[in-house]
Parts: sequence; structure tokens; C-alpha cells
Amino acid sequence: TQYVYRFGGGVSDGGNGDKNLLGGKGANLDGMASIGLPVPPGFTISTPMCTVYYEQGGVFPDSLRAEVANGIAHIEGITGKKFGVAADPLLVSVRSGARASMPGMMDTVLNLGLNDDTVDGLAAISGDARFAWDSYRRFIQMYSDVVLELDHGRFEEALEIAKEDRGYTLDTEMTADDWRTLVAEYKALVVELWDGKQFPQDVHDQLWGAIGAVFGSWQSERAKVYRRLNDIPAEWGTAVNVQAMVFGNMGDTSATGVAFTRDPAKGDNAYYGEFLINAQGEDVVAGIRTPQYLTRAARETAGAKPLSMEEAMPEVYGQLARVFDLLERHYRDMQDIEFTVERGKLWMLQTRAGKRTAKAALKIAVDMANEGLITREEAILRVDPQALDQLLHPTLDPNAARDVLTKGLPASPGAASGKVVFDADTAEKANAAGESVILVRVETSPEDIHGMHAARGILTARGGMTSHAAVVARGMGRPCVSGAGTLSIIAKEKLFRIGSREVREGDIITIDGATGEVMLGAVPTVQPELAGDFGTLMVWADEGRRLKVRTNAETPLDCRTARDFGAEGIGLCRTEHMFFDAARITAVRQMILAEDEAGRRIALDKLLPEQRRDFVEIFEVMAGLPCTIRLLDPPLHEFLPHEESEFAEVAQAAGLDVETLKRRAAELHEFNPMLGHRGCRLGVTYPEIYEMQARAIFEAAVLVAEKSGDAPIPEVMIPLVATRRELELMKAVVDKAAQTVFAEQGRTIEYLVGTMIELPRAALRAAEIAEVGEFFSFGTNDLTQTTLGVSRDDAGRFLTTYVEKGIYAKDPFVSIDVEGVGELISLAAERGRSTRPDIKLGICGEHGGDPASIAFCESVGLDYVSASPYRVPIARLAAAQAAL
Ligand code: ADP
Ligand code: MG
Ligand code: MG
Repeated sequence: TQYVYRFGGGVSDGGNGDKNLLGGKGANLDGMASIGLPVPPGFTISTPMCTVYYEQGGVFPDSLRAEVANGIAHIEGITGKKFGVAADPLLVSVRSGARASMPGMMDTVLNLGLNDDTVDGLAAISGDARFAWDSYRRFIQMYSDVVLELDHGRFEEALEIAKEDRGYTLDTEMTADDWRTLVAEYKALVVELWDGKQFPQDVHDQLWGAIGAVFGSWQSERAKVYRRLNDIPAEWGTAVNVQAMVFGNMGDTSATGVAFTRDPAKGDNAYYGEFLINAQGEDVVAGIRTPQYLTRAARETAGAKPLSMEEAMPEVYGQLARVFDLLERHYRDMQDIEFTVERGKLWMLQTRAGKRTAKAALKIAVDMANEGLITREEAILRVDPQALDQLLHPTLDPNAARDVLTKGLPASPGAASGKVVFDADTAEKANAAGESVILVRVETSPEDIHGMHAARGILTARGGMTSHAAVVARGMGRPCVSGAGTLSIIAKEKLFRIGSREVREGDIITIDGATGEVMLGAVPTVQPELAGDFGTLMVWADEGRRLKVRTNAETPLDCRTARDFGAEGIGLCRTEHMFFDAARITAVRQMILAEDEAGRRIALDKLLPEQRRDFVEIFEVMAGLPCTIRLLDPPLHEFLPHEESEFAEVAQAAGLDVETLKRRAAELHEFNPMLGHRGCRLGVTYPEIYEMQARAIFEAAVLVAEKSGDAPIPEVMIPLVATRRELELMKAVVDKAAQTVFAEQGRTIEYLVGTMIELPRAALRAAEIAEVGEFFSFGTNDLTQTTLGVSRDDAGRFLTTYVEKGIYAKDPFVSIDVEGVGELISLAAERGRSTRPDIKLGICGEHGGDPASIAFCESVGLDYVSASPYRVPIARLAAAQAAL
């Protein structure tokens, strides 16, 4: 098998880039080379080698050595330089590159191939000793950090001291001799920190060390965490890219930069990026110097002084702009690009589909479809439904008072308030305790990922729009303000200062990722704008989908929100929430505590007008649409007091003495309430409860029909049915209530009676249950619990381990367990249809808002999904994607 694929200088072994084989970076280097763009020559060691390397216990097969030698010869042939030869030394970079971009992976090693001999050769051939020694010290620093894993703080410290001793503030003030002296110190540091071993002088040792480190990093903790958070399988492996160095640090006609072909924050069709003159790659993202703008327009908008690349290097900029357009047309997507200019010549070092905010994803998808670059179907598929969440949530109220502390860069949009924390672990802990936090760092690094995830927003003192913090925050959908330069963080004392003002850990701040403002206190928010690109994409999605989308809602406000978001009915209205209302709980308790039916009816009569009012309000909002209403489901004791202190009060209100109340409460106690006296079992034992609820529903429906002329279509749903007989009994109660109300009111309305399928027995006996029930709604929360025998509320203790060990691919309460629960659903659908071909089928668990589960619902041909109000647009888009 071949493991090494060459690219550059007219060669493209990979044949225009297979990501699975070459990793994302390697595939696109190959792709760029194949369309004739200037890519420094190099080669990719393919991802299967990663698996081989681990299988063989961390050693490489001999055949790889020959292939790598061949790859080096390819680079030497094109550049005319020789690896490890002082006369004209070839330097390379060693870059990791998994299929999906992975910030958890090894950092790139630059300038590999330098040693005590070749550094002199590089100085001579470039005519620039300062450049050569600067490159050498960079190489030692990086190699020691990422390959030898020595404490990089010590190297940074040595550099700081070197500058301090000489009275410099900037790296650029260091002379050739200064760097040479520092290199000697670095080499001594390596000996000290690396158990007395010398920094490797043999360039081949350097190369294999770096290659091994890339493969080794695939199993690093950082990489594992990232894979877990992003569902990347461990089997994928990473590729290694070895590539000839080009130098952006060869004086003022050299530069390095990063760019996006469109604005990754807002999505505008304008080049967007940053560059630095006389600098090497990572300088731009590391926030060591403040980068300059790419375009003149961006510089002018920002009111910045240092010239943009468009102004400082007009010719190269022109070339770059042509490359941008070429790449967009080739890859048919917005690209994130890394480039270097060496003495006036442009080199492309990377391109990939650019990470973007949800807002930008939406705008770019709609724009590209309108430009004819992609189809409408592709536009629908381009937007991650989950990411829409960012757009549906509130932004800062423009009219609210703001106590602005400072302003940084608007790195990732959205607004967030929370308590200030200064490290990732504290952020994670606070989040676990239910607190909202803002993570405040000088700058972030891959070690902070878990804290960024746990935080509502991220604020950094250093770094540009393409800094680690900015890129990761945009990917995660967290608001971020970066490079707030006036912020001085004193981590030890857990506080930051801005001028004379001080903010301590635990103080609340608000950040606005759209403007870069940082404010003291929590600033109120307003609802988002849902027209524009969002509206356009939703129209396209609605044209493309088959599944209807309903909502889970039980308040008029939720119903209104859901309707505004495009809900086509209610999939689940839980009536017990209405029972908890403070004004009614007394009557509810009286009903529960009654000794007999007569007593219960007295209490139920008090509840009837209240329930009717609930339904009138809901039906008014949902007029003309189907509304599935579930009759009382939870065990009755849930409504009784639990605290000793409440008993006296409740007893008095219920007209009982405390002892009797306690006795009744004890009688209602159940060992396993989830499988106890609940659902239709309540209706079977106390039919008068369901009778009252059905009456309230029909009276309300008739009232609304009368008033608005647009009747809702109540779908009365019986919970926790296991047998046909249960449903038969309950349907009789509902039908009787309906007939009574219709006779009383002199008006008939359309309605259905059906059941939730949430017990495996019901799924199995679906054929006979469908003879009675007119619809099924899959209650996948309970169906998952009862099928897996796992209680959702107790699963936290072991479920993560289960997912880690691959027992379940994903949390089955988030994404339907297609193999198990899914099989029951498709079987029940099929059996239900066998006796009632036109039976209405829907899903009402949390899964109804999960894109993967929605795809499953499409595949078994359900009629609708139902999601919480804010997830309705997500479900609409996911349903369209599932249908395409
Ligand atoms: P990452 O995956 O973290 O972006 P890269 O492999 O892209 O890491 O390397 C980071 C930076 O190092 C690049 O943006 C580029 O500026 C610089 N770099 C990498 N390879 C080379 C090279 N062959 N010549 C010059 N600079 C390089
Ligand atoms: Mg890169
Ligand atoms: Mg249930």
C-alpha cells in the first residue's frame, strides 16, 4: 500500500484530494496544486498510517521510510534545496491534518531542518543572518514545545528576559547576534529540561520525531475531548503533511496572513482577513503583534492607521483576490485561507470551508443560491439546523442603559451575561452548578475548550478576529469579544482592571459579540428579527419538506411564539402543568385527598372553569390548527406537599387535620412512581378526572369556534396506554363528554381521540390499539425509558460512560436510539396502519426537535414532529434536509 502522496510543482498524487485519505489539509493542498495555484511542494502521509502506527505499538513500517525519502526527494527536486545540507538547506513544516479540522491536534512545527550547520547556510544564501537565526530559535522553541513537550513557559521567559536586558519591547528589535545568543540559551534549556539530552541536530531525527508527534497527538487528551464534543470517531486517524517552508519573515516585502472569502461573522460578500508584514504563520493568530487589515474598506471602517494589504502590496493583493474567487468557484463554498508572501511572491498554504456564525451561514447559503453558485437544495443543506438556535435567541435591547467598560473586537455575535470567571475549570464547575458565566482570558488555547463550552460568552484581552478564541467561539455559537486591549487581567487576584475600574470573579458582566462592547451588569435583551435571509431559507425549507412541524406548548405565550416560528399545530399540550398553578393547586389537592367520587367531583367542578379558560386561550392562538391535548399523566402524589412546613397550611385549606393529610399522602406513596399509578391508570380508576378535562376541552373548542368561526381541531390523547381495552374505556369517557357538550351547546366540532405510544406493549399491539385510536403520538421520552429500562433522571451517573465505551453512539434521550426504540416505532407505525390505513402518526418527545431523530421520523413516514417553540424553525429546516 501507498502511504505517501506528493503535491506541488505540477504533481498531484492524490488526484484532487480525498479528505478521508489525505485529511482535510492534505486534500486541499493537493486540490489547490491540481488547479495550478502556487503551493509550496510537499507530501502527505495518509490517515491509514495513523491506524498502522497504533496497531504496531508506535513504530513505523520500514516501507514508510523509503516513501518519505522519496517525498523529500520530490521537494528537493522542485526547490533545488537539500534537506540537511548547509550549502542551500531545505526547511520544511510538519503539519497535522485530520479529516475534520481539529484544534485538539498537534501544533505545526515550522523551520524543521535547521541545525548548527544549516543555520549558517541559510544565513549565507538568504543574505540575512537575522532571519536565519530568528528562524532557528523559532524552530527550537516550537519543536521543544510540541514534539519534546518541554515547558514552553521557560522559553518564553528566556525571550522576555533577553528583550528586557537589552531594553527592547518588540521581537523585531532583536538583532542577528541577539537571536544567536538566545539560541545558545535555548539549547541549554533543552538539556536542562530534557533529562540532559541535546536538541536533535540530525535533520532526519527531527523529521521523524515530528511525524511521530503528529500521530501521537491523535490520542492526546485534548484531541479525545474534542472528538467527543464533535462526534468524530477515533478510527478516522490523522494525516501528516510535510511541506517546503516559504518565508513571510524575510523583510518588508514578505508577509503572512489569513483570510476568508466572505465575512464569517455577518456573511457579507466581501473579502475579510488580516496580515502581518515580516512575520511567520502563527504570529497572526497568536496575537503577538496586532495584525493589519486585508482590505482598504475594512481598514477605513475601523478607522485604523496601518496600511491594509490592498494598499501596502497592491499587486500581490490583486493576485490573492483572484485566488479567492477561483477557490470559491472550485469548492463552491466560502473559504478560510492561509497564505504567505515571500519577497513579493504569493504562496497558498491552506484552504478549507470557513467556519462561520449561524447568521453568516444563512446569508452565505442564500446569497450563493441567488448567485447561482449552488442550488436551493444545497443552500438548505448548508445550514446546520442546530446552529439556527443562535439566531432565534434574544439580542441586547438597543434602548437599555449600558454601563460600557470597554470595547474589543466583535469576534462572535450574540449577547451574553454572566458571572466573570478566569479559568476553564471554574467555568465548567459553575456551569454544572447552573450558573451563567463569562470566561475571561488573556487569550485562549486548546486547553480552554471545555471552559469555552461551559461559558455563555468569552472575553479575551488579546488576539484578533481570527484568534483561537474567535474561531472556536464562532464554531460553538458562543458570543465572543476578543482583543479588548484595555483589559488588564490579574489572574492571581481573580480580577481585571479597566482604567481605574475593577471587576472581580463572580461580578456580572454582559458582552455583545456584535459590537464588541463589554458592560458591567446584566443588560436586558430583545427578540430576534425573523425576516430577511432567515425567512427566505425557511420558505425554501417549507417547499422542500414533507413532515409537518408542530409544537409542544401549554401556555398561550409559548403557543404564540411557536406560531410565529411557523408551528402548524400543537403536538403535545401537557395538562398537568396547568394543575400546578398556585391559584388551583388547592382544588387539585382537595380532589386528590377526597375519600370518594362525590368528594372528587366537588373539587373537579371548581377546576372545570379554570381548565376551560386555559384551553380557550390556547385555542384562540391555535385557531384552525390541530391541537393534541394529553389528559392528566403524572402520579397524583406529585401534587401533594413534600415539605413538613407545608402540611399544616395544606391541611387547613383542604379542611383536614394534619394527621389525616399525612396518612393520605403516605397511602399515595409509590416505590416506583414512573411505573405506578399514572397515565390512563388514573383515568381508569377515576374516570371523572378525564371526564372533567374532556368537558373543558370541548366547551372551550365550541366557544372559540363560535367566537372566531375558526374551530381548532382537538386531538384528545390518552397517555400510557398498554392495551386496547384501556383505550376503549377512556375513549368512551371522552366521546360521552363530547356528545354531552355538543348537545348542550347545539354545535358539533371535529375531534379525534388517540393515544400516546410510550410502552413497548403498546407498540407491539399497535394493530388492535389502532382499531380504537384515531392517532398515535410516539412519546419517545417514556418509550426510551421503558424500552431501554433506563430512567432518564438517573441516567447521568452512567450514560456518559456508556457513550464513551460505544454502547450507545449518542445519548438516547437526545437522539433516538434508532436500532431499538426506532424499531418499535416503525413496527408500531406499520401495525397501526394495517388496521387503520389513514391513522395520523406523530412524535412528541424531546426528540422531535433533534435533527437526527427528525431524519428518522422522515424515514418511517410519520406525519409530523413536534418540538418546543424555539426549536420549531430547527425542526422545519431539519425536516427539509431529511426529505432532500
Ligand atoms: P493549523 O492547522 O493550526 O492552522 P497549520 O499547519 O495550518 O496549522 O500551520 C499554521 C501556520 O503555519 C500556517 O498558517 C502558516 O502560516 C504556517 N505554515 C505552515 N506550513 C508552512 C510552510 N510550509 N511555509 C510557511 N509557513 C507555514
Ligand atoms: Mg492552518
Ligand atoms: Mg409519558
